[in-house]
Amino acid sequence: QAVIELKDIHFSYSASTSGSSSDNNVAAQQSLILDIPSWAVPKKEKVFLHGASGAGKSTLLNLLTGMREPDRGEVLVMGTSLSSMSSSKRDQFRAKHIGVVFQQFNLIPYLSIRDNTRLAAHFSGTNDNVLLERIDHLSHALGVNEFVDKKASELSVGQQQRAAILRAMVNEPEIFIADEPTSALDDQNKQRFIEVLFNLVEELSMTLVLVSHDSSLAQYFSTVQDISELNKVMGAS
Ligand code: ADP
Ligand code: ADP
Repeated sequence: QAVIELKDIHFSYSASTSGSSSDNNVAAQQSLILDIPSWAVPKKEKVFLHGASGAGKSTLLNLLTGMREPDRGEVLVMGTSLSSMSSSKRDQFRAKHIGVVFQQFNLIPYLSIRDNTRLAAHFSGTNDNVLLERIDHLSHALGVNEFVDKKASELSVGQQQRAAILRAMVNEPEIFIADEPTSALDDQNKQRFIEVLFNLVEELSMTLVLVSHDSSLAQYFSTVQDISELNKVMGAS
């Protein structure tokens, strides 16, 4: 069955959400970014969501994770409509069921990787011993076990990327979403990273949505979804 379902999604950034953009012309326009009639991701699928820069991939991820709400239409995650939840319910739901790695990682720089991860698990009610075991297991699998007690700010970009994955997997979410997780890697390391990621995704029975503009990743996936086939608004940045 579908673990993620989009129904007739429309999304535009309004001028008010553009914040302190210095480019007033861009900020003043309210243009449609996404018009997606339907999309479904089957349970335990590994999906490569591909598209050029500016095509709307990050925006779509923000809708899938409930970080932003569509102007119309519905996002169903594990059968539940995200917009039917209060924002605090939605935050809890995301923390429990969706692991997300953003492009900027969003690690807290002055905390160790272990503490960043424990913080992410704080509201999960996971027993301390179980949590420590999970951190141990995941950090070994991801090859960051030697850095778990280092501050995030002391790690290389590649190490931070893997640390962010550790943090996003610690609650064993059903869905794992990663935005450009290989941007810091060369081709050889990309392949190794994909193997490690797939092993963890299978071990934890997760559904994977990996988002990237890098078409060389397509070869590893049986499901490749180009966002331009979903989105009726043509990407032009
Ligand atoms: P991608 O992730 O595929 O590169 P994005 O979702 O980041 O695409 O961007 C899609 C379009 O939405 C681009 O034209 C981009 O400039 C615009 N956009 C992204 N974020 C914002 C924002 N916060 N406010 C206004 N426009 C935005
Ligand atoms: P990508 O295209 O790889 O997603 P971007 O450089 O487009 O990355 O976006 C980086 C950040 O800037 C994102 O958080 C995005 O939402 C925001 N952003 C992108 N375009 C705009 C825009 N036109 N106005 C305001 N924020 C934007």
